[in-house]
Amino acid sequence: MEHRRRTLPEITELSELAQQQQKVHSALVTAQTEVSDIAREQDKLEGDIDQVRQRMGRDQQRLDAGSVSSAKELESLQHEIGSLSKRQRDLEDVELEVMERLEVAEGQASALATEQERLTAVVEDAARRRSDALAAIDRDAEYAQQQRATVVPHVSDELLALYDKLRAQLGGVAVVAIKQRRCDGCRLDLSATDVGRVRAAEEDEILRCEECRRIQVRTEESGL
Ligand SMILES: [Zn+2]
Repeated sequence: MEHRRRTLPEITELSELAQQQQKVHSALVTAQTEVSDIAREQDKLEGDIDQVRQRMGRDQQRLDAGSVSSAKELESLQHEIGSLSKRQRDLEDVELEVMERLEVAEGQASALATEQERLTAVVEDAARRRSDALAAIDRDAEYAQQQRATVVPHVSDELLALYDKLRAQLGGVAVVAIKQRRCDGCRLDLSATDVGRVRAAEEDEILRCEECRRIQVRTEESGL
């Protein structure tokens, strides 16, 4: 049960998911930064375009009011309006390109935000499965503890000490059955000598496997 607790598949799953979340989060931050950089670029362009429009408006007003009488001044004013108009078109072309880039960046940020939400849901699901599995193991462990408590009073201190020592040394399994003349712990066949020794042993004698040292129990399936 300790082993099951430590090796739940959800533990690996959650650790991989955490890595994915980290990647998506950092990509999202990058995408969001790009969106705000491009939006700032667009704001600045709009400000520039606005200034050009205002200046053109003022020039046009002066022209319409007929207050400019000198031919040279008139020509210079018309020339300026022409340049401003070209400047406005150029800036608007740049703005269009910036808006397209903004759309792409916003699309990326939005896809990453959706992926982040999806991962959050997957993580919640895996965490729920992990805690359900741990609760089931806890119930099994409690049951095993109860079972053990009913048996322990009938076992000598010496045998119990041997059992606990072997359990610690041999991956948690200290007692195995002999099945068809084979040790159920190390899966090795008993030698002819072993069979003779086991057969000759008293019913309550503690038998040990010659190979894996586990305590062996004789059953109807032992083939002896
Ligand atoms: Zn064995």
